[in-house]
Amino acid sequence: MMQKDWNSFLGHEKQQSWFRNAIRNNRLASTFLMVGPEGIGKRTFARLLAKTMLCTGSDPSIFAPCCHCEACAQIDASTHPDLLEIARRPDKTALIMEQLVGEGEMRMREGLCYELRMKPYSGRRKIAIIDDADTIAEEGANSLLKTLEEPPPGSLIFLISTSVQRQLPTIRSRCQMVRFQPLTSDELSQLILRHGIADNIEEALTVATQAAGSMAAVANWTNEELRAFRLELFRQLRQRPLDFTKLAKAVQGNMESVGTESQPRRERLKVILDFALNFYRAGMRTILAEIDNEASRSAAVEQYGHLMTLGSSSLVAAVQRCMEAREHLDRMVSPASLIEAWAADLAVISQA
Ligand SMILES: [Zn+2]
Repeated sequence: MMQKDWNSFLGHEKQQSWFRNAIRNNRLASTFLMVGPEGIGKRTFARLLAKTMLCTGSDPSIFAPCCHCEACAQIDASTHPDLLEIARRPDKTALIMEQLVGEGEMRMREGLCYELRMKPYSGRRKIAIIDDADTIAEEGANSLLKTLEEPPPGSLIFLISTSVQRQLPTIRSRCQMVRFQPLTSDELSQLILRHGIADNIEEALTVATQAAGSMAAVANWTNEELRAFRLELFRQLRQRPLDFTKLAKAVQGNMESVGTESQPRRERLKVILDFALNFYRAGMRTILAEIDNEASRSAAVEQYGHLMTLGSSSLVAAVQRCMEAREHLDRMVSPASLIEAWAADLAVISQA
């Protein structure tokens, strides 16, 4: 959802004032790498910056787009001709060349890098937002690099990424880096209320705690269809001994339920691994007595069942194993073998 202006945008205040000062002092770089976890508002932030810079009703230095002019309306409607946005298409594993520089006969005659060189329609500047910049393959990165080396005069380019390590050093070195932190539980619960995901602040805070600072995770935690599976997953993770064949089968089955395309399957597996990760983390928090009041403790027990069946060293090992599986998934390991190895290791860990 598009936030209309900075007043309604939640969080990331340091980053806001950093940009406000840079614009005011006229020392805004041309290319930015915005790095931080998924679902915390990086793209929305970039769009608000674009609105601030392209609004014709108020000067950028005021850092408050008017929200009434045609430019502001066009940005809200994603139709502003000088704001170019690309993101990974849902059915693809990566941004594709066509989106950056065109393909076949149209190579170098369309795509974001090409359009960025065109004269701004508004006479102001061209702004590009490249979401999922983590997924640009090497060929695409090389094309993009040419643009980053000589950005068209006045243009602004925002690359949105979840990890600095996933950017090629050549790209990284040409960008000004801006780091974003997860939202605080307070900020996230306000967003949850605003989106009508929870009815009251207690419920919102509970969901916010599960979602570890990310709206993307909130959507998964509140998805009804996933809820039933999550309860079953947690039930299996609690079993002693852990039946790893059964666990692998359940996970595989749920992953395959999203269709035959590989990318949606990977996305789903990532969500499942996050659920498991949260399960073990909640166990650690209970042991470390971070969940110290009776109400949150019973809420945790209700969510996860009785977690105390594992000792702290086993919980740490299980958390690490889930994180490792998540990383391997990003490295394009076959999901089926990943699930089997992960489930088998969890069974061993849970017996220790
Ligand atoms: Zn405006």
